Amino acid sequence: MKATIDRSDCTSCGTCWETCPTFFEENPDDHLSQVIEKFRLNGNCAEGSVPDELEACVTDAADLCPVSIITVE
Ligand code: SF4
Repeated sequence: MKATIDRSDCTSCGTCWETCPTFFEENPDDHLSQVIEKFRLNGNCAEGSVPDELEACVTDAADLCPVSIITVE
């Protein structure tokens, strides 16, 4: 499974990194959500490969994002 964050519309609410802190984190510079480095695809902080054991929490984070900008496929 792959997760993508449309960071340009992130409101920094913190829901995703509170719901799934093993996969999402707050970027210390722009304060927007990003994928933790070890899961990134092509070094892009807005895209990550989701390991099987994190599928449930990444999906929960996507469902709970108030602006629905996390896509899982
Ligand atoms: S839940 Fe959505 S709006 Fe909130 S920090 Fe995460 S990506 Fe940004």
